[in-house]
Amino acid sequence: MSQANFDETFDFVVVGSGGGSMCAGLSMRSAGKSVLILEKTDVVGGTTSRSGGVMWIPNNRFMKRDGVEDSFEKASAYLDALAAKQTSAPGSTPERRMKYVQQAPRMVDFLVEQGIKLNRAREWPDYHDELPGGSALGRTVVAELFNVNELGEWKQKLRPSFIVAPISYMPFPLNKLMQSMGILFLPATVPELMDLAYVKRSWRVKMLAVKVVLRALIARLAGRQLVAGGAAIQGRMLQAALRTGVTIRTDSPVSELIVDEGAVKGVLTTKNGSPWRIGARLGVLVNAGGFARNQRMRDTYAPGTSVKWTMATPGDTGEMIEEMMRHGAAIAQMDERVGNQQTLPPGAEESESKPTAQALTASPHTILVDQTGVRYMNEGGSYMAYCKAMLERNKTVPAVPSWAVLDSQYVRNYMLAGTLPGSKKPQQWYDSGYLKKADSIEELARQLKIDPSTLKATVDRFNEFVAKNRDEDFNRGARAYDRFLGDPYHKPSETLGAIAEAPFYAVPIVPGDVGTYGGVVTDEHARVLRNDGSVIAGLYATGVSTASVMGRAYPGAGSSVGPSFVWGYVAAHHAMSSSTQ
Ligand SMILES: Cc1cc2nc3c(=O)[nH]c(=O)nc-3n(C[C@H](O)[C@H](O)[C@H](O)COP(=O)(O)OP(=O)(O)OC[C@H]3O[C@@H](n4cnc5c(N)ncnc54)[C@H](O)[C@@H]3O)c2cc1C
Repeated sequence: MSQANFDETFDFVVVGSGGGSMCAGLSMRSAGKSVLILEKTDVVGGTTSRSGGVMWIPNNRFMKRDGVEDSFEKASAYLDALAAKQTSAPGSTPERRMKYVQQAPRMVDFLVEQGIKLNRAREWPDYHDELPGGSALGRTVVAELFNVNELGEWKQKLRPSFIVAPISYMPFPLNKLMQSMGILFLPATVPELMDLAYVKRSWRVKMLAVKVVLRALIARLAGRQLVAGGAAIQGRMLQAALRTGVTIRTDSPVSELIVDEGAVKGVLTTKNGSPWRIGARLGVLVNAGGFARNQRMRDTYAPGTSVKWTMATPGDTGEMIEEMMRHGAAIAQMDERVGNQQTLPPGAEESESKPTAQALTASPHTILVDQTGVRYMNEGGSYMAYCKAMLERNKTVPAVPSWAVLDSQYVRNYMLAGTLPGSKKPQQWYDSGYLKKADSIEELARQLKIDPSTLKATVDRFNEFVAKNRDEDFNRGARAYDRFLGDPYHKPSETLGAIAEAPFYAVPIVPGDVGTYGGVVTDEHARVLRNDGSVIAGLYATGVSTASVMGRAYPGAGSSVGPSFVWGYVAAHHAMSSSTQ
């Protein structure tokens, strides 16, 4: 296929508008290269836009600014320590881990220079902060709130984030005041929203609530619509991409890579319903997400998991991974997912936004048990480790779903499946059997078809640990991240609290996910590799289309979005440097 056969040609073509796409686009534009991003759905941003939008960026400028200790060596030691626990993770070679630690802070510096407003999340411990090089304060970077009205006609084309907090989160009369102003959602960043859950418990958080209300009022008067999380980062990226001249097309699915003499030269998409061949002089970057929405691929690579439990966006259907395989790409880590424990009240399976149970069983006054009533993990661990532990347990003891067992103190103080602390739970939850309620642990066990003496023994044993303030079975609370998931105002432990006050409750927990974590194998330049280790010329990939650089672990918040941006940045730089050689 020669250049002349193309309907159109750009320097660089990106398939999918995920995290790395616009980062690569901005890098290319800063060197004057032409870039086209093709997105198959009708909106831009991918699961990245729906997400919390946080990025795991070791040794970043904001840590330095705030005097938080980190270094290349420290972060590398941490990733190496995680890798040492893993087998068969070709996405996580020493060269790639080193490149990630080196390039991630540079990528952030570049975005800041491009006017993307980012900041450090105040505190978000690494998920394995107990390992060498782990950071108890964390390495997570977030975007500042973004006024989507600045996107003009593109506003409708930005995929919304799941980070939307209704004003009912605010105590009376703040919520009524906001409602009277026509404000229905809180303009708060992800870390602020996590704090606001404790508005009734702390003066600092009450002051934060007032600040958020004032911000909402000012934004309302100024005609601004502030969004947070993934929509903030992708909104800011979209704005910068459009400003610098990146061409972005929605409703443009790529079905094939165009290969000539062993090198990828372009892509086949559609335009106005007809096939459209687009050439790429410097290469093609695939940033098309994973296969969370493809049950056939799940059954092949991650059996026992379900599309019904994913929060990934509808475009996450994996065809570009299969297309790269068709051209010889090696795949790895395909059995890995970014698990995310969920509790699904009636109707939630069908819904796009499912309530996460990330903090549920890590809060005081609750534990997770399998279907025999036995506790089997540290409920405070990373969501990926949590869901893996569920599936592993299920191989020997029925554990999907498992049961979160809680008491009245929990229901009074903490959120349950998206409902506010202390609120009356929908009658349908009881009628459908989703929420169990009983006056004793033994009666609760009978409702769960568990041997009452087993569940009673499990709860009694946990309560003994609470009294000693030490979880002798699973060490819950020893890690900073376990405590972070708990209640900062609960003493003496943020995460250990007795299950002691009737009535007692239980809800099912399933090993859901926010996406897949395996894909094509890439090298330290983000080039796609064949099984023999050779490079498929002209083909780059990033994000969850690839086997993660983090291997089979999740180092900290932002370990999917961070790598997607970083490898997009790396790919663009490699493609440009190759063209000048
Ligand atoms: C609710 C939620 C919260 C999360 N929070 C975080 C977080 O804060 N931090 C974090 O690191 N991770 C988070 N995750 C996980 C993370 O968002 C995703 O794993 C990550 O965003 C994937 O990014 P990506 O760049 O690989 O692809 P995506 O952002 O998913 O983008 C891929 C795009 O490619 C498009 N596409 C697919 N196939 C084609 C094709 N053939 N042609 C053209 N376009 C195509 C898709 O439609 C999609 O728009 C969260 C996920 C969810 C669901």
